[in-house]
Amino acid sequence: MITESKSCRLCGGLIKEIAYLCDSPPANNFDSTFQKNKTLAFPLAIDFCKNCSNIQLRHCLGEDLLYSDYTYITPKSESLQNHYDSLKCYSVKKIKNLKDIDVVEIGSNSGDLLKFLKPFVGSVLGVDPAKNVAKIANEAGIETLNCFFNQSIADKIKLNKKLVNLVIARHMFAHNSNPSEMLNGMKNLINDDGLIFIENAYAIDTFMHGEFDQIYHEHMFFYSVKSMENLLIKNGLHLHDILFSDVHGGSIVFIVTKRNIGKTEKLKAQIKLEDSLFKDDKIFKVFINKIEEVKKFINKKIKYAKENNLTIAAYGAPAKAFTMFALLGLNKETIKFCVDTSPTKIGKSFPIFDIPIISEEAMQDESYDVLLVTAWNYKSDILNKAPKIFQSGTELIFPLPEPTSMKV
Ligand SMILES: [Zn+2]
Repeated sequence: MITESKSCRLCGGLIKEIAYLCDSPPANNFDSTFQKNKTLAFPLAIDFCKNCSNIQLRHCLGEDLLYSDYTYITPKSESLQNHYDSLKCYSVKKIKNLKDIDVVEIGSNSGDLLKFLKPFVGSVLGVDPAKNVAKIANEAGIETLNCFFNQSIADKIKLNKKLVNLVIARHMFAHNSNPSEMLNGMKNLINDDGLIFIENAYAIDTFMHGEFDQIYHEHMFFYSVKSMENLLIKNGLHLHDILFSDVHGGSIVFIVTKRNIGKTEKLKAQIKLEDSLFKDDKIFKVFINKIEEVKKFINKKIKYAKENNLTIAAYGAPAKAFTMFALLGLNKETIKFCVDTSPTKIGKSFPIFDIPIISEEAMQDESYDVLLVTAWNYKSDILNKAPKIFQSGTELIFPLPEPTSMKV
């Protein structure tokens, strides 16, 4: 199912087009050998609502198309562990008796964050709609309900838990076409002095850095502080503070409260900054110029490689790789293979582009000269392990945040 919105999905206001990027198959859904060539591509177009500052994807795909064969497993990385630690430290400062509280994470994936928090809190519970990842979490000892979060699930959780003081939703909030329903569920789940952490890719980073590959069908909204605040007010909740992190190329954690305890100075300053960036579409002009710059850089690299008979492959099969390949018009004619570490992806291939996904071990038997690093947001992790996994002399192309290349 696909629905096209001609007005703002948050406030009903008028929208205008920022950009049409390309048509892309739904991210994170790969072809197995049995279902090749059945996947369709859908438009990636983004619109802006001046009334509430919402940035949204024009075409939303139904859950059937998005999550039928979901393959995203939270990767193991040092940068994520550091981020989990900073979330914990913030909670320690804000919540009295952290040891006693119940924590619920929505979209908890394989349960990594909850596993990290478990020793410091009363109890943890995950909720995740993807059957395969919920199973991984449960098997690892993190109790996880396998369902979409909504009001009735909130009621069910409340029957068993008494002290839900912290609800966390990391990188899933923008995946929901009806965020008000989810906010209501969260509001009813927490105590009066409870906190909600909503973490997302930050719209300002995504657009100011030209991170067009953050745009794929799972991301139905691109939240800024302004649009999030407008949405929260509409639902009787309050934005209290914000945290920033490097996760996924620049993320923001919105700290939401049930009671109005005021705004931090940091939050007030960020609203001011956003006002200036949205003025005269400044931010969207930067975005469009940056896309052209990245396109030009990579096309030049590919042209050179082809003229010199060099073999090009890709490193990383995250959701963002779908948009990268679609926007640049890349397929197996250009990209010989794509390397990934997720067991759920290895052995499959990208639909339409037909690029096979292989493991780091299998890459050792392949010959290649140039790697387009589609998982560029893990740059430091990748460079740390580069001498161990890549053939010496391999050229790595990082498309973002600044298009660069280097030999390792
Ligand atoms: Zn709006």
